Amino acid sequence: MPGIPLLRPRTAAAAVLALAVLLLTLAACSPATGASPPPGSPLPVVSSTAILADFARNVGGDAVTVSSIIPPGADIHTFRLTPGDSARISRARLILTNGAGLDDFLDAAIASARNHGSVSLAVANGLALPVDRQPVASSQHADEDHGDGPHLWLDPAYAMLYVERIRDALAAVDPPRAAVYERNAASYLRHLRDLDEDIARALSAVPAQRRVLITFHDAFAAFTDRYAFERQALAGVQGGDITPQDVVRLLASVRRRGIPAVFAEPQFDEKILRQAAAEAGVAVGVIRSDTLDAQTPTYLAMMRANAASIAALLSERAP
Ligand SMILES: [Zn+2]
Repeated sequence: MPGIPLLRPRTAAAAVLALAVLLLTLAACSPATGASPPPGSPLPVVSSTAILADFARNVGGDAVTVSSIIPPGADIHTFRLTPGDSARISRARLILTNGAGLDDFLDAAIASARNHGSVSLAVANGLALPVDRQPVASSQHADEDHGDGPHLWLDPAYAMLYVERIRDALAAVDPPRAAVYERNAASYLRHLRDLDEDIARALSAVPAQRRVLITFHDAFAAFTDRYAFERQALAGVQGGDITPQDVVRLLASVRRRGIPAVFAEPQFDEKILRQAAAEAGVAVGVIRSDTLDAQTPTYLAMMRANAASIAALLSERAP
């Protein structure tokens, strides 16, 4: 296979460790034939989304090179793979997808393109918050919303679980640098804990009767559960077509509840949402869910911008 260096075989002990750590969460491809990269050379990692790539870069630091398959700003829910993506997948030692129905359309392509020593991890599959990370205050629909949809990273408590799984996967694929991944992850996890507190503080400016987050696609279940908002959306969790009935339903709700703003997402055509908002006489903010871009190039920046946007448009001080 051109471009893939000859690597020393992983020891049996490391293979056993890898299986123990990644039990139930990894589809390990012939772990006995896997190998660590030569000392000093970065571990190639491929992720489906830019947000997963950001997590992997924070955990991997200089020890990894990370690229995402779905380009910044693209709509995950309608994305299709190119031949260049297959080549990148074939060179990767760790392949990260979200799973939980978000990017499962990549599974077949990954299975056929990945190299023999690689590990593929669907980070969100089977993920559940431990008791000490449950939301402090639950929204009135929290029970029915909990775990609804694949966009779990929009709750920083789930993002922390993502990061822990990525840390464990990197350590299993590349045991000599496990301590590096452990140290980097510990530092980034502290940032995520701070992020959670900062978002809660920013959103405390939004009174209870205005705690309704109205977005284009139904991506914010984990977020609204965590910060005690209700949520409504024009389109379902996978985006998709909007019917006139969807618009009528949303407008009626916005008027009845006196909600001052709805939120467009840059990766979707926002024309319908803007028309609906203009008809209802409410403001349109911007919020991000699936992808990073030049305005918010990291997960931390995206989440802080989302909280600032929501606080600015839904607080008592909002117009
Ligand atoms: Zn989405």
